[in-house]
Amino acid sequence: MEEFIMNTKIYMGKACLSRLSGLEIKKAYIICDPFMEKSGKAAEIAGLLKETGADSRIFSKVVPDPTIQVVTQGIEEMGAFEPDTVIALGGGSAIDTAKAVCHLYAAMKQEKRPYLAAVPTTSGTGSEVTSFAVISDPQAQAKYPLRDPAMVPNAAFLDPELTATVPPQITADTGMDVLTHALEAYVSTRSGDFTDACAEKAVRMVWKYLEQAVADGGNMEAREHMHNASCLAGVAFNGASLGICHSLAHALGARFHIPHGRSNAILLPHVIAYNAGLEEAGETEALLRYAQIANMLGISAGTEKATVHCLIRQIRNLMKRIGIPEQVTELGVEREEFGQWVEDMAGKALQDNCTATNPRKPELKELEDIYGR
Ligand code: NAD
Repeated sequence: MEEFIMNTKIYMGKACLSRLSGLEIKKAYIICDPFMEKSGKAAEIAGLLKETGADSRIFSKVVPDPTIQVVTQGIEEMGAFEPDTVIALGGGSAIDTAKAVCHLYAAMKQEKRPYLAAVPTTSGTGSEVTSFAVISDPQAQAKYPLRDPAMVPNAAFLDPELTATVPPQITADTGMDVLTHALEAYVSTRSGDFTDACAEKAVRMVWKYLEQAVADGGNMEAREHMHNASCLAGVAFNGASLGICHSLAHALGARFHIPHGRSNAILLPHVIAYNAGLEEAGETEALLRYAQIANMLGISAGTEKATVHCLIRQIRNLMKRIGIPEQVTELGVEREEFGQWVEDMAGKALQDNCTATNPRKPELKELEDIYGR
């Protein structure tokens, strides 16, 4: 690891959105999905800004796995309003849309990007602190993780109250996204002491609080820790990047419209087994790293390999308890149809940005095998 940059100012805790009033905003463009508009949250932020004399406009056309088309529309409507600030309100889809809109808008106008404040309402992607924006091309059935340090939001507002309405299934999916971010950052070829510290803390918090947050969405202690864990895992992978679990999940999600966190979760046990070389002789570097993080969670079984087997078993048990399936066939995907797409998806995963920092350099056939499992 050669550098560690943290450009986002993070506000946290209940009612931290009141700090928006200190930003001297004149015109705010609020980017959210229809749920956030209907729930009144976007209007609430507009109301808060109005008290400080700021004008607002709401763009609520964000869709899950945001598309190039939505980004284009967002840029057009932004051009008619010319805001000095963009507020992204929602899950990763809203935040990624806002990042891409801001970035391309500034590039087209050849001027500085507007101030970008991200307000996550799911505890999953960590997008509020990362330089990634994942944009989908439905025609190509592909998801592209765009990456540019200039896309990192200026500020993030982590108010756990905003996550209280997230239903159990989405809490589970997004929580597994946090775990995947932290584990992939931890074994990445670009990991270092700084990203490890964030990844380790995030893993500990998911281990302790995810199940509680799924079982009782009103448990604000669990919600708050999951929200902070999501952001910390974001800091970790913004520095260390990710690995093939994400590459495979991007291609899988784009083809079969499986939510991002759930795609990651289904693949995660198989990716750990592959990276750790569990079915081969000898020890990979990743094996030792997974064993280290397992030990940190109190999992130990004699040898490193036995310990990592045990870690995988415990991840599977966690998934079962929070209602995440182990196979895509449990989500209505036909085995035969899936088989027809494996080569295409593996090819896309091999080209994905996240593959470059995976601890083991995969061959196309190995990625196909992981899908097969
Ligand atoms: P999402 O933003 O697509 O939201 C999922 C669903 O949850 C939506 O229907 C939304 O309306 C609903 N929702 C959001 N907040 C809610 C709330 N408070 N109460 C009730 N419902 C709520 O899901 P996500 O998992 O947060 O984001 C996924 C997207 O983020 C994917 O496109 C993924 O590829 C991308 N991603 C980006 C990064 C990054 O660093 N930029 C990292 C990981 C994933």
